Amino acid sequence: MPGTVKDAIKRSRSTVETAIEHGRATVETAIEHGRAAVGDALHHGRATVESAIHHGRATVETAIVHGRATMQAAILHGREDIRIESVPVPKAEVGELIVRVGAALTCGTDLKVFRRGYHARMIVPPALFGHELAGTVVEAGQGVEDFAPGDRVVALNSAPCGQCYFCQHGQENLCDDLLFNNGAYAEFIRIPSRIVAKNTLKVPDHVPLEHAALTEPLACAVHGFEDSKPYPGAIVAIIGGGPLGLMMLHVAALAGCEVIAIVKHDGQVEAAKQLGAAHVVQTSSIRKAIRETRALTPKDRGVDIAIEAVGVPEAWEEAVEMVRKGGTVNFFGGCAVGTHVTLDTNRIHYSDITLRATFHHTPAICRRSLELIASGRFQAGAFITGHAHLYELNRVFEKLMNRSSEIKTAIVP
Ligand SMILES: [Zn+2]
Ligand SMILES: [Zn+2]
Repeated sequence: MPGTVKDAIKRSRSTVETAIEHGRATVETAIEHGRAAVGDALHHGRATVESAIHHGRATVETAIVHGRATMQAAILHGREDIRIESVPVPKAEVGELIVRVGAALTCGTDLKVFRRGYHARMIVPPALFGHELAGTVVEAGQGVEDFAPGDRVVALNSAPCGQCYFCQHGQENLCDDLLFNNGAYAEFIRIPSRIVAKNTLKVPDHVPLEHAALTEPLACAVHGFEDSKPYPGAIVAIIGGGPLGLMMLHVAALAGCEVIAIVKHDGQVEAAKQLGAAHVVQTSSIRKAIRETRALTPKDRGVDIAIEAVGVPEAWEEAVEMVRKGGTVNFFGGCAVGTHVTLDTNRIHYSDITLRATFHHTPAICRRSLELIASGRFQAGAFITGHAHLYELNRVFEKLMNRSSEIKTAIVP
């Protein structure tokens, strides 16, 4: 009977194996269901937590401003005269926002204003001061639908009218009626309704407010770069190692250009390298800078694109001298009123050189600028080289005037 036993064993084996197979399938289905259930639960849990955080934020922010009658703010009184004073906390009118400033960044324009005591278009003293900021909404005026207390936002320094010839032809940076806003060096700032409607952006949770505050200067840099007919692999010379020159060179390097940074000070050499410059020319002589820059290009023919980011006539002329035939020059740095330059017309004409001079930014570019910061590709942290309290503002500007190696200082009220 060995055959029968063997058969029996075989049969029972296959029964056992089928049972195991079924068992496995059942267990795996159960695991799969379990996983889906856990996933759902996590998702719901997260949504509940996020909405609780948001409600919490809104409540806290509203509470912070509630009952506050005054705040500390920097008031510009004239040349090199900033005073920290107690002034009324602004109230949101129709369409406006009140933002609690998380960080306000120092800027070359503010430094100019500090030195001169005024800015013809932007600020007439005594006045609130500072324009690069990000913070948290504490009050939303009647009619504001896109923002609520608790929202982290970056509010740009200006907004175009949308009505004039230039706004209607896609050149909002040239708007006849650009509305500027100042008052970032303060605990709270009022955001006018036009800026709320056109140039206030929500900051993603993972982006620190002091990084988001770079949106405005970065928008200027992105605009200037895009206006210079760039292409991957182009050799781009950036003249000037100030905050905007460094930003411009970083943007160009991220776009795949070969960047030659032309800077003056030791601190700027390191910064330029860290931000992606392929070559750094450090010189205080313009003739030498032109020669050394040309020597870095094939057969000394000159760079494809030269961007001037200093704002002095000598550097404008220098930019024209270092570009190749068929190249593009961008006069990005604004010189003092009444400045004139001397250019070689023959060289410009027979070398077919394109001359551009980019000013300011548009709402679309501001959005792209914040996206670039949020992407993590842009090294926002490298541009903020110091932190200071509002009370230290005078000292910070004095330091910036003495050409320290600081790029930007975040003022935290
Ligand atoms: Zn600025
Ligand atoms: Zn306009």
